[in-house]
Amino acid sequence: MRATDPQILEAIKSVLKKDTTIHSQKELFEKVKKKLSNNEEVQISAERIRRIAKKNGIRIQVHSRKGKEIKTCPFCNNEFQDILSEDLFGKSTVIGKLCKNCKFEIGVGRSPARYIFRK
Ligand SMILES: [Zn+2]
Repeated sequence: MRATDPQILEAIKSVLKKDTTIHSQKELFEKVKKKLSNNEEVQISAERIRRIAKKNGIRIQVHSRKGKEIKTCPFCNNEFQDILSEDLFGKSTVIGKLCKNCKFEIGVGRSPARYIFRK
């Protein structure tokens, strides 16, 4: 069975009504999946849940760690823009990446490690 975006959003909201903070994407995924699977198991991915949550204004905090840099936004797949910082001599260096679409930011040389979802 396939779930629609509004169905998934409803499930996310209902999960967050009960537990106002969900501490990982995996936890949210499992709870949302359980909520949607009544008779039949639904086919959804954690990534899709993350995107739907973000798009609909669910607060998501991203913890990052040192690691392989990501090329595109984890929420909308957009290409990043460089965040530049100028030093005292006017020389600019890239200090991070920004998604213009959803305002997600991440530092240079870091990758998302954990997503925290809040009502
Ligand atoms: Zn984005």
